[in-house]
Amino acid sequence: MTNTYDVIVVGAGPSGSIAAYVAARLGLRVLVLDRFRFPRIKPCGGGLTQKSIALLRGLGIDLDGIIRDTCRRVVVINNAGSFLLTDNEPIISVVSRDEFDNYLLSNALEMGAEYAVDRVIRVDVHEDYVNVVGTDNTYTGKYVIAADGANSVIAKQLGNDIRRNTAMAFMTIARGDYLSDVCLIDMSRIKWGYSWVFPRGDEEYDAGIGSIHWGDYKAQLIKYVGDLGLRGGEIRGHPIPIKARDKLVSRRVALVGDAAGLADPTTGEGIFYAMYSGALAALTLRHSINPTEFMNNYLGVIKPLIKNLSIAYYLSLGTYGIDHLVMGRLGVSAFAVSGTRNLVRKIMRGDTWYYQVPMSMVKFSVLKGPQLILRGILNG
Ligand SMILES: Cc1cc2nc3c(=O)[nH]c(=O)nc-3n(C[C@H](O)[C@H](O)[C@H](O)COP(=O)(O)OP(=O)(O)OC[C@H]3O[C@@H](n4cnc5c(N)ncnc54)[C@H](O)[C@@H]3O)c2cc1C
Repeated sequence: MTNTYDVIVVGAGPSGSIAAYVAARLGLRVLVLDRFRFPRIKPCGGGLTQKSIALLRGLGIDLDGIIRDTCRRVVVINNAGSFLLTDNEPIISVVSRDEFDNYLLSNALEMGAEYAVDRVIRVDVHEDYVNVVGTDNTYTGKYVIAADGANSVIAKQLGNDIRRNTAMAFMTIARGDYLSDVCLIDMSRIKWGYSWVFPRGDEEYDAGIGSIHWGDYKAQLIKYVGDLGLRGGEIRGHPIPIKARDKLVSRRVALVGDAAGLADPTTGEGIFYAMYSGALAALTLRHSINPTEFMNNYLGVIKPLIKNLSIAYYLSLGTYGIDHLVMGRLGVSAFAVSGTRNLVRKIMRGDTWYYQVPMSMVKFSVLKGPQLILRGILNG
Protein backbone atom coordinates (compact mmCIF):
# COMPACT_ATOMS: atom_id res chain seq x y z
CA MET A 1 0.00 0.00 0.00
CA THR A 2 1.53 3.32 -1.00
CA ASN A 3 0.61 6.76 0.23
CA THR A 4 -0.96 5.49 3.42
CA TYR A 5 -1.81 8.03 6.08
CA ASP A 6 -1.88 7.18 9.77
CA VAL A 7 -5.14 9.07 9.96
CA ILE A 8 -7.48 10.72 7.50
CA VAL A 9 -9.54 13.50 9.04
CA VAL A 10 -12.77 14.17 7.16
CA GLY A 11 -13.88 17.80 7.67
CA ALA A 12 -11.75 20.82 8.54
CA GLY A 13 -14.05 22.61 10.99
CA PRO A 14 -12.82 23.10 14.58
CA SER A 15 -13.09 19.38 15.42
CA GLY A 16 -11.23 18.23 12.30
CA SER A 17 -8.51 20.87 12.34
CA ILE A 18 -7.76 20.35 16.03
CA ALA A 19 -7.72 16.56 15.54
CA ALA A 20 -5.31 17.04 12.62
CA TYR A 21 -3.19 19.53 14.56
CA VAL A 22 -2.83 17.23 17.58
CA ALA A 23 -2.25 14.10 15.47
CA ALA A 24 0.43 15.84 13.37
CA ARG A 25 2.05 17.25 16.49
CA LEU A 26 2.22 13.72 17.90
CA GLY A 27 4.16 12.65 14.80
CA LEU A 28 1.36 10.97 12.81
CA ARG A 29 1.02 11.28 9.04
CA VAL A 30 -2.24 13.17 8.59
CA LEU A 31 -4.49 14.05 5.66
CA VAL A 32 -7.39 16.49 6.14
CA LEU A 33 -10.18 16.42 3.57
CA ASP A 34 -12.87 19.06 3.26
CA ARG A 35 -15.49 19.48 0.59
CA PHE A 36 -14.71 23.21 0.45
CA ARG A 37 -11.57 25.16 -0.24
CA PHE A 38 -10.79 27.32 2.81
CA PRO A 39 -11.63 29.94 3.88
CA ARG A 40 -15.27 28.90 3.59
CA ILE A 41 -18.44 30.23 5.20
CA LYS A 42 -19.91 28.37 8.18
CA PRO A 43 -23.22 29.59 9.67
CA CYS A 44 -22.42 30.16 13.36
CA GLY A 45 -22.68 32.74 16.13
CA GLY A 46 -18.90 32.64 16.41
CA GLY A 47 -19.18 32.82 20.21
CA LEU A 48 -16.14 31.36 21.95
CA THR A 49 -16.32 30.70 25.67
CA GLN A 50 -13.26 31.21 27.82
CA LYS A 51 -12.84 27.44 28.11
CA SER A 52 -12.41 27.27 24.32
CA ILE A 53 -9.72 29.94 24.46
CA ALA A 54 -8.02 28.13 27.36
CA LEU A 55 -8.08 24.84 25.42
CA LEU A 56 -6.49 26.49 22.38
CA ARG A 57 -3.88 28.22 24.51
CA GLY A 58 -3.10 24.88 26.14
CA LEU A 59 -2.49 23.46 22.67
CA GLY A 60 -0.19 26.37 21.81
CA ILE A 61 -2.66 28.17 19.54
CA ASP A 62 -2.92 31.88 20.23
CA LEU A 63 -6.00 33.73 18.98
CA ASP A 64 -4.40 37.20 18.73
CA GLY A 65 -5.81 38.91 15.67
CA ILE A 66 -8.55 36.27 15.25
CA ILE A 67 -10.90 37.41 18.03
CA ARG A 68 -13.09 40.19 16.61
CA ASP A 69 -14.67 41.37 19.87
CA THR A 70 -15.14 40.29 23.48
CA CYS A 71 -18.36 40.70 25.45
CA ARG A 72 -17.72 41.85 29.00
CA ARG A 73 -21.46 41.85 29.64
CA VAL A 74 -23.96 39.12 28.78
CA VAL A 75 -27.67 39.87 29.10
CA VAL A 76 -30.21 37.04 29.26
CA ILE A 77 -33.85 37.90 28.53
CA ASN A 78 -36.73 35.57 29.32
CA ASN A 79 -40.44 35.82 30.22
CA ALA A 80 -39.52 37.05 33.71
CA GLY A 81 -37.30 39.95 32.57
CA SER A 82 -33.68 40.83 31.76
CA PHE A 83 -30.76 39.52 33.75
CA LEU A 84 -27.14 40.60 33.64
CA LEU A 85 -25.24 37.33 33.58
CA THR A 86 -21.82 38.97 33.72
CA ASP A 87 -20.69 42.50 34.34
CA ASN A 88 -17.18 43.46 33.34
CA GLU A 89 -15.87 39.94 32.88
CA PRO A 90 -14.68 38.78 29.45
CA ILE A 91 -17.02 35.83 28.98
CA ILE A 92 -17.80 35.39 25.28
CA SER A 93 -15.29 36.26 22.59
CA VAL A 94 -16.58 36.55 19.07
CA VAL A 95 -14.83 35.25 15.96
CA SER A 96 -15.80 35.13 12.33
CA ARG A 97 -15.95 31.43 11.53
CA ASP A 98 -14.40 31.73 8.07
CA GLU A 99 -11.32 33.39 9.64
CA PHE A 100 -11.25 31.18 12.76
CA ASP A 101 -11.60 27.87 10.91
CA ASN A 102 -9.05 28.90 8.29
CA TYR A 103 -6.63 29.82 11.08
CA LEU A 104 -7.08 26.47 12.86
CA LEU A 105 -6.57 24.61 9.59
CA SER A 106 -3.41 26.62 8.84
CA ASN A 107 -2.08 25.64 12.29
CA ALA A 108 -2.68 21.97 11.47
CA LEU A 109 -0.92 22.35 8.11
CA GLU A 110 2.04 24.12 9.73
CA MET A 111 2.27 21.18 12.10
CA GLY A 112 2.68 18.91 9.04
CA ALA A 113 -0.84 17.77 8.12
CA GLU A 114 -1.72 17.61 4.41
CA TYR A 115 -4.99 19.00 3.02
CA ALA A 116 -7.09 18.17 -0.02
CA VAL A 117 -10.43 19.47 -1.25
CA ASP A 118 -12.82 16.60 -1.92
CA ARG A 119 -16.35 15.66 -0.90
CA VAL A 120 -16.30 12.35 0.92
CA ILE A 121 -19.00 9.91 -0.11
CA ARG A 122 -18.20 6.94 2.12
CA VAL A 123 -15.54 5.11 4.06
CA ASP A 124 -14.67 1.47 3.26
CA VAL A 125 -13.19 -0.25 6.30
CA HIS A 126 -10.88 -3.23 5.66
CA GLU A 127 -9.02 -5.49 8.05
CA ASP A 128 -5.76 -3.47 7.98
CA TYR A 129 -6.70 -0.15 6.40
CA VAL A 130 -9.51 2.19 5.38
CA ASN A 131 -10.34 3.70 2.03
CA VAL A 132 -11.96 7.11 2.12
CA VAL A 133 -13.91 7.49 -1.09
CA GLY A 134 -14.33 11.06 -2.35
CA THR A 135 -15.93 12.40 -5.51
CA ASP A 136 -12.45 13.00 -7.01
CA ASN A 137 -10.17 10.41 -5.40
CA THR A 138 -9.87 7.51 -3.00
CA TYR A 139 -7.50 7.96 -0.06
CA THR A 140 -5.96 5.18 2.00
CA GLY A 141 -5.17 5.40 5.68
CA LYS A 142 -5.07 3.38 8.89
CA TYR A 143 -7.82 5.28 10.71
CA VAL A 144 -10.49 7.90 10.05
CA ILE A 145 -11.54 10.73 12.31
CA ALA A 146 -14.95 11.80 11.06
CA ALA A 147 -15.33 15.54 11.65
CA ASP A 148 -17.80 16.17 8.85
CA GLY A 149 -20.34 18.13 10.89
CA ALA A 150 -24.03 17.88 11.70
CA ASN A 151 -24.96 16.28 8.36
CA SER A 152 -22.12 13.76 8.61
CA VAL A 153 -22.22 11.09 5.91
CA ILE A 154 -19.91 8.95 8.04
CA ALA A 155 -22.17 9.15 11.13
CA LYS A 156 -25.00 8.05 8.87
CA GLN A 157 -22.88 5.24 7.47
CA LEU A 158 -22.27 3.98 11.02
CA GLY A 159 -26.05 3.62 11.37
CA ASN A 160 -26.93 6.83 13.23
CA ASP A 161 -30.12 8.76 12.53
CA ILE A 162 -28.57 12.19 12.07
CA ARG A 163 -31.90 14.05 11.96
CA ARG A 164 -32.85 12.94 15.47
CA ASN A 165 -32.19 15.26 18.44
CA THR A 166 -31.14 18.17 16.30
CA ALA A 167 -31.89 21.87 16.74
CA MET A 168 -32.10 24.30 13.84
CA ALA A 169 -30.47 27.75 13.83
CA PHE A 170 -30.38 30.66 11.39
CA MET A 171 -27.93 33.56 11.44
CA THR A 172 -27.03 36.71 9.61
CA ILE A 173 -24.34 39.35 9.81
CA ALA A 174 -26.20 42.53 10.75
CA ARG A 175 -24.85 46.05 10.54
CA GLY A 176 -25.64 49.28 12.37
CA ASP A 177 -25.15 51.09 15.61
CA TYR A 178 -25.96 48.93 18.63
CA LEU A 179 -24.25 47.85 21.87
CA SER A 180 -20.60 47.13 21.21
CA ASP A 181 -19.49 44.94 24.12
CA VAL A 182 -22.76 43.26 25.09
CA CYS A 183 -23.82 39.76 24.06
CA LEU A 184 -27.59 39.44 24.09
CA ILE A 185 -29.39 36.11 24.58
CA ASP A 186 -33.15 36.49 24.26
CA MET A 187 -35.49 33.57 24.97
CA SER A 188 -38.64 35.66 24.65
CA ARG A 189 -38.70 35.55 20.85
CA ILE A 190 -39.00 31.82 20.28
CA LYS A 191 -40.09 28.72 22.19
CA TRP A 192 -37.46 26.17 23.21
CA GLY A 193 -34.59 28.28 21.99
CA TYR A 194 -33.27 31.80 21.80
CA SER A 195 -32.21 34.63 19.56
CA TRP A 196 -28.82 36.23 19.97
CA VAL A 197 -26.79 39.26 19.04
CA PHE A 198 -23.00 39.03 19.36
CA PRO A 199 -20.89 42.08 18.39
CA ARG A 200 -17.97 41.39 16.06
CA GLY A 201 -16.41 44.84 15.71
CA ASP A 202 -16.77 47.59 13.09
CA GLU A 203 -20.51 47.93 13.78
CA GLU A 204 -21.07 44.31 12.70
CA TYR A 205 -23.15 41.84 14.70
CA ASP A 206 -23.68 38.12 14.43
CA ALA A 207 -27.44 37.82 14.97
CA GLY A 208 -29.40 34.61 14.93
CA ILE A 209 -32.25 32.50 16.16
CA GLY A 210 -32.38 28.80 16.94
CA SER A 211 -34.66 26.24 18.57
CA ILE A 212 -34.97 22.53 19.15
CA HIS A 213 -38.24 22.80 17.22
CA TRP A 214 -37.39 22.79 13.53
CA GLY A 215 -38.87 25.65 11.59
CA ASP A 216 -38.05 28.29 9.04
CA TYR A 217 -37.18 31.18 11.33
CA LYS A 218 -35.94 33.53 8.60
CA ALA A 219 -38.89 35.94 8.88
CA GLN A 220 -38.54 36.04 12.68
CA LEU A 221 -34.83 36.78 12.35
CA ILE A 222 -35.45 39.61 9.88
CA LYS A 223 -37.99 41.11 12.32
CA TYR A 224 -35.65 40.68 15.29
CA VAL A 225 -32.75 42.41 13.56
CA GLY A 226 -35.10 45.19 12.38
CA ASP A 227 -36.51 45.68 15.90
CA LEU A 228 -32.96 46.27 17.15
CA GLY A 229 -32.47 48.92 14.48
CA LEU A 230 -29.93 46.83 12.56
CA ARG A 231 -29.74 45.92 8.87
CA GLY A 232 -29.52 42.16 8.28
CA GLY A 233 -27.53 40.50 5.51
CA GLU A 234 -27.90 37.11 3.88
CA ILE A 235 -29.55 34.53 6.16
CA ARG A 236 -28.03 31.06 6.51
CA GLY A 237 -29.34 28.10 8.44
CA HIS A 238 -27.76 24.92 9.72
CA PRO A 239 -28.67 22.12 12.15
CA ILE A 240 -27.02 21.77 15.58
CA PRO A 241 -27.04 18.23 17.02
CA ILE A 242 -27.93 18.25 20.69
CA LYS A 243 -27.49 14.63 21.75
CA ALA A 244 -24.56 12.27 21.29
CA ARG A 245 -25.01 9.77 18.46
CA ASP A 246 -25.84 6.20 19.43
CA LYS A 247 -22.78 4.85 17.64
CA LEU A 248 -19.68 7.00 18.05
CA VAL A 249 -16.97 4.64 16.95
CA SER A 250 -16.40 1.54 14.85
CA ARG A 251 -13.25 -0.35 13.85
CA ARG A 252 -10.85 2.36 12.62
CA VAL A 253 -13.46 5.18 12.55
CA ALA A 254 -14.28 7.69 15.32
CA LEU A 255 -16.84 10.50 15.19
CA VAL A 256 -15.98 13.88 16.71
CA GLY A 257 -17.68 17.29 17.10
CA ASP A 258 -21.06 17.81 15.46
CA ALA A 259 -20.65 14.53 13.57
CA ALA A 260 -20.71 12.86 17.01
CA GLY A 261 -23.63 15.03 18.17
CA LEU A 262 -21.54 16.82 20.77
CA ALA A 263 -23.04 20.31 21.07
CA ASP A 264 -24.46 21.79 24.27
CA PRO A 265 -28.31 21.61 24.19
CA THR A 266 -28.67 24.42 26.72
CA THR A 267 -26.51 27.04 25.04
CA GLY A 268 -25.92 25.69 21.53
CA GLU A 269 -22.17 25.89 22.17
CA GLY A 270 -20.47 23.41 19.89
CA ILE A 271 -17.01 24.79 19.14
CA PHE A 272 -15.48 23.81 22.49
CA TYR A 273 -16.87 20.27 22.39
CA ALA A 274 -15.80 19.92 18.75
CA MET A 275 -12.20 20.90 19.48
CA TYR A 276 -12.05 18.89 22.69
CA SER A 277 -13.37 15.69 21.13
CA GLY A 278 -11.07 16.18 18.10
CA ALA A 279 -8.05 16.47 20.40
CA LEU A 280 -9.14 13.42 22.43
CA ALA A 281 -9.62 11.28 19.30
CA ALA A 282 -6.14 12.18 18.01
CA LEU A 283 -4.51 11.53 21.39
CA THR A 284 -6.28 8.21 21.76
CA LEU A 285 -5.30 7.14 18.30
CA ARG A 286 -1.63 7.92 18.91
CA HIS A 287 -1.63 5.81 22.06
CA SER A 288 -3.65 2.81 20.85
CA ILE A 289 -1.90 -0.20 19.38
CA ASN A 290 -4.81 -1.74 17.49
CA PRO A 291 -8.37 -0.87 16.33
CA THR A 292 -10.04 -2.57 19.29
CA GLU A 293 -7.92 -0.61 21.74
CA PHE A 294 -8.64 2.58 19.78
CA MET A 295 -12.41 1.96 19.97
CA ASN A 296 -12.35 1.22 23.69
CA ASN A 297 -9.97 4.04 24.57
CA TYR A 298 -11.93 6.64 22.61
CA LEU A 299 -15.23 5.54 24.15
CA GLY A 300 -13.56 5.67 27.57
CA VAL A 301 -12.25 9.22 27.24
CA ILE A 302 -15.37 10.60 25.55
CA LYS A 303 -17.77 9.18 28.17
CA PRO A 304 -17.46 12.04 30.71
CA LEU A 305 -18.17 14.54 27.92
CA ILE A 306 -21.29 12.64 26.90
CA LYS A 307 -22.44 12.41 30.52
CA ASN A 308 -21.91 16.15 30.85
CA LEU A 309 -23.92 16.94 27.72
CA SER A 310 -26.73 14.52 28.57
CA ILE A 311 -27.22 16.34 31.90
CA ALA A 312 -27.19 19.59 29.90
CA TYR A 313 -30.00 18.14 27.78
CA TYR A 314 -32.26 17.77 30.82
CA LEU A 315 -31.20 21.17 32.13
CA SER A 316 -32.19 22.69 28.80
CA LEU A 317 -35.73 21.37 29.35
CA GLY A 318 -35.68 23.10 32.76
CA THR A 319 -34.30 26.35 31.35
CA TYR A 320 -36.57 26.73 28.32
CA GLY A 321 -39.56 24.87 29.80
CA ILE A 322 -39.97 25.21 33.56
CA ASP A 323 -37.99 28.42 34.10
CA HIS A 324 -38.94 30.41 31.00
CA LEU A 325 -42.40 29.12 30.06
CA VAL A 326 -43.83 28.24 33.50
CA MET A 327 -42.04 30.26 36.19
CA GLY A 328 -41.43 33.13 33.79
CA ARG A 329 -45.19 33.70 33.50
CA LEU A 330 -45.27 34.23 37.27
CA GLY A 331 -42.52 36.79 36.85
CA VAL A 332 -39.84 34.66 38.49
CA SER A 333 -36.74 33.04 37.10
CA ALA A 334 -33.74 31.14 38.39
CA PHE A 335 -31.62 33.76 36.57
CA ALA A 336 -32.72 36.25 39.24
CA VAL A 337 -30.66 34.30 41.76
CA SER A 338 -26.96 35.14 41.89
CA GLY A 339 -26.10 31.47 42.53
CA THR A 340 -27.58 30.47 39.14
CA ARG A 341 -25.78 33.23 37.30
CA ASN A 342 -22.58 32.27 39.03
CA LEU A 343 -23.04 28.64 37.99
CA VAL A 344 -23.65 29.60 34.35
CA ARG A 345 -20.49 31.71 34.38
CA LYS A 346 -18.53 28.82 35.86
CA ILE A 347 -19.77 26.47 33.13
CA MET A 348 -18.89 28.98 30.42
CA ARG A 349 -15.41 29.43 31.89
CA GLY A 350 -14.93 25.67 32.25
CA ASP A 351 -14.64 25.88 36.05
CA THR A 352 -17.40 23.32 36.48
CA TRP A 353 -19.26 20.70 34.44
CA TYR A 354 -22.99 20.26 34.03
CA TYR A 355 -23.04 17.06 36.04
CA GLN A 356 -22.13 19.13 39.08
CA VAL A 357 -25.21 21.30 38.58
CA PRO A 358 -28.10 19.04 39.79
CA MET A 359 -26.85 19.15 43.39
CA SER A 360 -26.77 22.96 43.27
CA MET A 361 -30.28 22.88 41.81
CA VAL A 362 -31.58 20.71 44.63
CA LYS A 363 -30.09 23.18 47.14
CA PHE A 364 -31.61 26.05 45.17
CA SER A 365 -35.07 24.46 44.93
CA VAL A 366 -35.19 23.73 48.64
CA LEU A 367 -33.82 27.06 49.83
CA LYS A 368 -34.85 29.62 47.26
CA GLY A 369 -37.59 28.04 45.10
CA PRO A 370 -40.54 28.48 47.50
CA GLN A 371 -39.47 32.06 48.25
CA LEU A 372 -39.34 32.91 44.55
CA ILE A 373 -42.73 31.37 43.76
CA LEU A 374 -44.32 33.14 46.74
CA ARG A 375 -42.82 36.44 45.59
CA GLY A 376 -44.20 35.84 42.10
CA ILE A 377 -47.71 35.09 43.43
CA LEU A 378 -47.68 38.14 45.73
CA ASN A 379 -46.56 40.35 42.82
CA GLY A 380 -49.58 39.06 40.87
C1 LIG B 1 -26.43 29.26 13.37
C2 LIG B 1 -25.50 28.57 14.32
C3 LIG B 1 -24.90 29.30 15.34
C4 LIG B 1 -23.97 28.70 16.21
N1 LIG B 1 -23.35 29.47 17.15
C5 LIG B 1 -22.39 28.93 17.93
C6 LIG B 1 -21.64 29.74 18.82
O1 LIG B 1 -21.83 30.96 18.91
N2 LIG B 1 -20.69 29.14 19.60
C7 LIG B 1 -20.46 27.79 19.53
O2 LIG B 1 -19.59 27.30 20.27
N3 LIG B 1 -21.13 27.00 18.66
C8 LIG B 1 -22.08 27.54 17.86
N4 LIG B 1 -22.74 26.75 16.95
C9 LIG B 1 -22.37 25.32 16.84
C10 LIG B 1 -21.04 25.18 16.06
O3 LIG B 1 -21.11 25.92 14.86
C11 LIG B 1 -20.73 23.72 15.76
O4 LIG B 1 -20.98 22.95 16.90
C12 LIG B 1 -19.29 23.54 15.30
O5 LIG B 1 -19.08 24.19 14.09
C13 LIG B 1 -18.95 22.06 15.14
O6 LIG B 1 -17.67 21.94 14.59
P1 LIG B 1 -17.30 20.68 13.69
O7 LIG B 1 -15.88 20.84 13.31
O8 LIG B 1 -17.69 19.43 14.37
O9 LIG B 1 -18.26 20.79 12.41
P2 LIG B 1 -18.30 21.93 11.30
O10 LIG B 1 -17.81 23.19 11.83
O11 LIG B 1 -19.67 21.88 10.73
O12 LIG B 1 -17.26 21.44 10.21
C14 LIG B 1 -17.54 20.32 9.40
C15 LIG B 1 -16.66 20.41 8.16
O13 LIG B 1 -16.84 19.21 7.41
C16 LIG B 1 -16.94 19.51 6.05
N5 LIG B 1 -17.70 18.43 5.42
C17 LIG B 1 -19.00 18.14 5.62
N6 LIG B 1 -19.36 17.07 4.88
C18 LIG B 1 -18.25 16.69 4.21
C19 LIG B 1 -17.97 15.65 3.29
N7 LIG B 1 -18.90 14.77 2.91
N8 LIG B 1 -16.72 15.54 2.77
C20 LIG B 1 -15.75 16.42 3.16
N9 LIG B 1 -15.95 17.43 4.02
C21 LIG B 1 -17.19 17.55 4.55
C22 LIG B 1 -17.65 20.85 6.01
O14 LIG B 1 -17.36 21.54 4.80
C23 LIG B 1 -17.06 21.55 7.24
O15 LIG B 1 -15.95 22.33 6.91
C24 LIG B 1 -23.66 27.31 16.08
C25 LIG B 1 -24.29 26.57 15.07
C26 LIG B 1 -25.20 27.18 14.20
C27 LIG B 1 -25.83 26.37 13.11
